[in-house]
Amino acid sequence: RSLLMIPGPIEFDPAVLAALGAPTTSHLAPNFIDAFGQALDRMREVFQCREGQPFVLAGSGTLAMDCAGANLAEPGDKALVINTGYFSERFAVLLARYGAQVTQVDAAVGGRPALEDVQAALQRERYKLVTITHVDTSTAVIADVPGIAALARSHGALVVVDGVCSVAGEELRMDEWGVDLALTASQKAIGVPPGLALLVAGPRAMEAFARRKTPVLNYYADWTNWLPVMQAYAARRPSYFGTPAVNLVFALHVALGQILAEGLEERFARHRQLSRMCQAGIAALGLGQVPLQAEFAAHTLTAPRYPVGINGADFLARVSQAGVVLAGGLHPAIKTEYFRIGHMGAHTTGDVLATLGAIETALAGCGYKFEPGTGVA
Ligand code: PMP
Repeated sequence: RSLLMIPGPIEFDPAVLAALGAPTTSHLAPNFIDAFGQALDRMREVFQCREGQPFVLAGSGTLAMDCAGANLAEPGDKALVINTGYFSERFAVLLARYGAQVTQVDAAVGGRPALEDVQAALQRERYKLVTITHVDTSTAVIADVPGIAALARSHGALVVVDGVCSVAGEELRMDEWGVDLALTASQKAIGVPPGLALLVAGPRAMEAFARRKTPVLNYYADWTNWLPVMQAYAARRPSYFGTPAVNLVFALHVALGQILAEGLEERFARHRQLSRMCQAGIAALGLGQVPLQAEFAAHTLTAPRYPVGINGADFLARVSQAGVVLAGGLHPAIKTEYFRIGHMGAHTTGDVLATLGAIETALAGCGYKFEPGTGVA
């Protein structure tokens, strides 16, 4: 069995997989109503949004982004996208599709926009919403969410965070930081196989939705359809708009329970430790990283650059032969120059050590000169 160390899907806990493999119940069965209701309560805790409205939809992280865009943006609305890579770009394209006028604040690949640049953009124009990719999985850059959120709020904009590669791994405090909507997908630090789009919308986001003048331009994602369903299950009553992904919701209930049992602060600290280990091992082997400064580097994944002369496809095939699956590059500007290691959710320090060992084996096989064992040490 290979060790899956890509930045999602990740390795999943056996109890979560057992819930997924249990006989499927009706979505109106009492035990499902209970599990769904509790999962919604637990989402508020994990997202740290006391008054938040959770949404659980069958779909991937892109649906969660689509859901945020479709429900919050109306034609002509102005949106500011803080661009830290490929997934920030996706948000810009998506918002434009719903008729928003999108402006981006850019940075060099591996960098992140300075707060002064964000401030200047907010002073030039009044925006209805600002989107932040908490961790852009294409660059492993973590955005300064509290810093940007404070600026956006002071200019009256809604703060929308793509937390697909962050929620339940990186520190994210919706209430404390003034985040109005955060979204993720099940297959990353939440720790459930792919298939659920997860959002928590704070009171200001729900008020903005209630004030809409035009219909939501996406039928499936429309909160008009889903809000009564989520409210019903939260009140432990069944309801229907589209059939929920019953087994995935049972698995989500288990995974969120595990996250809260571990403790959010402990979980954030464990992710910082996994990332310190991985980054130290990579540095000891003499490899650089995509994030341009140490403080820009996320804790849920590491993006090392290949040493000069190493062929990425050859390297990744050798890592795979050594039993570990890693991801190649994703950002179009540097796609062939780097690879990505996910370390989140159920990943352990042992998994990171095994990964560093496989990386050493592959580097040696590719003819890279280094002292064997230095990365693991
Ligand atoms: N945003 C970020 C930051 C992501 O990492 C991803 C997936 N890698 C997405 C959005 C899209 O999620 P999905 O692939 O589940 O649609």
